[in-house]
Amino acid sequence: MTTRRLQVQPKTEGWTQKTDAEGRPLLQFASPKRGKPPTHLADLTPEDRLNAMKELGLPAFRAKQLETHYFQHFTRDPASMTDLPSEGREELVHKLLPPLLTEVKRIQTDRGDTIKVLWKLHDGALVESVLMRYPGRITLCVSSQAGCGMNCPFCATGQAGLTRNMSAAEIVAQVVRANRMIMDGELGDPKHLGHEAERVSNIVFMGMGEPLANYNRVIQAIRVLTDKKHGIGMSARGITVSTVGLVPAIKKLSEESIPVTFALSLHAPDDELRDRLIPVNSRWKVDEALDAAKEYFDKTGRRVSIEYALIKDMNDHAWRAELLAEKLNSRGHGWVHVNPIPLNPTPGSVWTASEPGVQAEFVNRLVSAGIPTTIRDTRGKDIDGACGQLVATEADQAQAAKIPIDF
Ligand code: SAH
Repeated sequence: MTTRRLQVQPKTEGWTQKTDAEGRPLLQFASPKRGKPPTHLADLTPEDRLNAMKELGLPAFRAKQLETHYFQHFTRDPASMTDLPSEGREELVHKLLPPLLTEVKRIQTDRGDTIKVLWKLHDGALVESVLMRYPGRITLCVSSQAGCGMNCPFCATGQAGLTRNMSAAEIVAQVVRANRMIMDGELGDPKHLGHEAERVSNIVFMGMGEPLANYNRVIQAIRVLTDKKHGIGMSARGITVSTVGLVPAIKKLSEESIPVTFALSLHAPDDELRDRLIPVNSRWKVDEALDAAKEYFDKTGRRVSIEYALIKDMNDHAWRAELLAEKLNSRGHGWVHVNPIPLNPTPGSVWTASEPGVQAEFVNRLVSAGIPTTIRDTRGKDIDGACGQLVATEADQAQAAKIPIDF
């Protein structure tokens, strides 16, 4: 006998989803106009940095010196830059390395291996990043926008809408600050204190925002992060760009010749449900998003990830696991793996994590169909997740504005 499982429908609770003129969930692609953050070394190409030096009447090698201080030593403290002439040093540093992120709040787990930081940007917009130590690697979850315009009803960031795009330098600054924390021995495990060689090895664009809706700045940030000569010099493979599925931007990304890891937030294999979970599905359907993901693999040779937040009785049915496997297998083998994520729940709402047995069954169905599947770690759950929840808590707390710049 087959038992028909309950189908819980997505609905918003405690907030109203913004809608467009046709009554569909509002999608905000364009960033609202706000005061632009100051231009920073990390916003410029290596060539433009040389031009900037020329304009200031300085020798070209000053650009390299600033790059080394910021991207290798993770400092913007003029006092430590003794290779720059003391005259005009403060002004130069303030011009090319202006302060971008003010720490407003920090939450650290007991063992100290996860740090979540809430940052205030120059215009008061709030974003967050999460630093996580794992055996053999250190991962930073970064934000790419203040807020998000994609309006997904299960995601805390989506509920407030899009405040603005972050600049490339604001994105990079999250990594620089994280590396500084690591260097200063702030990330757990006391035996690593003062271990200067350690730094962020992996970056996931899974904080606030839709990275592909802020395409140019995200690409510039990735170029700086991976530039061995003029930037931080990380491996592109350690960088994961996660998207709701903006198909034209996925195609563009696959042609950038930067072999980042690509992740698609699918969350449902059928359009009926995905239309409601991921409003952008009204533009690009499940099959189009999956085709674009496969194309990413074909062009880059990088195996792609499918993100799937398991939501109790909503998208965790065995038939959906089978449908997902079918859709993935029909496009080939060895090109994809699935990362089910236990939902970061809102207590007492329809947004509840799947039961452990149901989650195990979902994984089993995928694995039996030959799809490599690994449950994604939910580090950060006990510190308000990695999904804009800290910003949501903090938004009303205006005292944030009084905290001085500390970097
Ligand atoms: N906008 C991008 C990246 C930011 S969200 C994207 O959607 O991919 C990063 C991941 O966290 C996405 O897979 C998103 O669907 C997931 N996520 C959002 N809210 C969540 C929640 N409450 N529980 C679990 N995962 C969540």
